[in-house]
This record gives sequence, C-alpha cells and structure tokens, in this order.
Amino acid sequence: MSKPIRRTGFQLPLNSYQIGSWVINLFNLLMSSIIYMPTLPLGSQVAYGILFYITEVIVVILAIVATAIDPSDIFLKSSTKSKDAMECEIGQSICTICNSTVGNLSKHCGECNKCVDQFDHHCKWLNNCIGVRNYSIFISLLWCLEANTLLLIIFAIVLFSEFNNNRSDYSSRVDNHEVYLAFTVITFIVNLLVLAGNTYLITFHSYIKCKGMSTFDFILMRREKKANQENKKDSGVKTPSDNSFYAENKNTTGKDKNVNHEDIAAEFSDKR
Ligand SMILES: [Zn+2]
Ligand SMILES: [Zn+2]
Repeated sequence: MSKPIRRTGFQLPLNSYQIGSWVINLFNLLMSSIIYMPTLPLGSQVAYGILFYITEVIVVILAIVATAIDPSDIFLKSSTKSKDAMECEIGQSICTICNSTVGNLSKHCGECNKCVDQFDHHCKWLNNCIGVRNYSIFISLLWCLEANTLLLIIFAIVLFSEFNNNRSDYSSRVDNHEVYLAFTVITFIVNLLVLAGNTYLITFHSYIKCKGMSTFDFILMRREKKANQENKKDSGVKTPSDNSFYAENKNTTGKDKNVNHEDIAAEFSDKR
C-alpha cells in the first residue's frame, strides 16, 4: 500500500515539532499578557503591548498561511499517473517515484509523497513542504518571528533592570514578585534558544539566496563534495570538481543522476 499524499501541513497526523512550535507561541502569548504587561512600567507597557501584539498577529497569520498552502506541482492537478514520458511537453518531465507529469524544477518530497514546485525543503515546524508557492511567506515568517522573539528578550532585560534598580516600584505593581521574576527568566531563556535557531535559519537562507541555490541544492552539493573527497582519499585519482557536478545536477527534476533525491529531501526535513 503506497504512502498517503499529504496536501497541507494541517492534514493529520500533526508533527511533534509543529505542535511544539504552537505550544511555544502560546507560552509567549501567555507570558506577555500575564507576566510582562503587569510588571512593566507604564511607558514600556504601551510600547511593548503595541509592538508585541502586532508582530504576534502577523506571525500567527503567516504560520497558518504557510502551513495551509498546498505547494504541489501545478501540473499534478491536471496530470494522470503513469503517463508515458513521450507525452511530456516542454518544461515537463516524469517523476520516477510517483509517475506524475511535473515541471522540470519540481522535486519529490518523501514526507508528503508528492512532487513540489521548486522544492526547497520539508519543514517539520510547519509540517509542510516549502516550495515556490510558500517560500516567500516562510521567509517573511522567519523575519517576523525574529522581531517577535527579540521583543520578548529586550523587554525581559528591561524587567531585570527594573527589578535591580527600582525594586520597590517593581514589587508594588504585583504580589509575589518572585514568581513573576522567575517566569520572566524562563521566558528569556526559551526565547534566547528560539532566537539562536531562527537567526541561524535566516543567515542560512540569506546565504543560499546569494548563491542562487535552494536548500535542496545546498544539501545535494554538500553530499557530492563529501563523496568526491572520499573518492580522492580512496583512489588518489583526480575526480571531477564539485562545482561541475553541481552544475550538472541542479536543474534535474530529482529522478536521475543516480542520486536518491527522496532520501535527501527526507534528510533535510529542515532542522529548525
Ligand atoms: Zn513525484
Ligand atoms: Zn513535504
């Protein structure tokens, strides 16, 4: 029995990373509303309230849209399985994994069991493939999440400073101020970790964009570099350069060149 096709990231079963991302988001929303807001001085409270809730709403909307989009290859909707390769028109080819007629830039995602137009990677946090239809939304989400996380960190520092310098004011705003301070520390640490991971992703995607690569291309190139290095060590014979291999493979549809693209796609179910 073949693996079922996943259409969107909201299709069951949900991914544990995806559930984790919504739990962290809900945690931040609660901490902002019941821990930060009552303990911040009035001026900071207004600034934080406006900036945090605006970025929060945008993050939630972008996450929902990126998850709900079906990034399938556009030809999939009109294609019939097991079409003969001779029926392909210019710009199309046949996926040897699902036998569908797809665009030349499509790749087959092993997690979703479907071909994705300009496949970048399968995102565990969104439980969906990232392709041409949702890549820009995915990048916008990373930047808004960066702003949202930075606000939580900066205003935690404001609260720490308030506690140190104006302890009587801080304590007068809430009962059990130690509990509020402890939750502020936890929120600070959680968001430092989120910021580190998210900043890595933004840096990585900025780098591959400058190089004109997708995440998939990058993994393919890295794997081939490693294979070439091992070949050189084993045989001592000069092998084709990494760049020439990459140039040959980057426009394939993921079904030839003896490279198991499904494995690579599964391997790079992103590491966010
Ligand atoms: Zn396919
Ligand atoms: Zn996928």
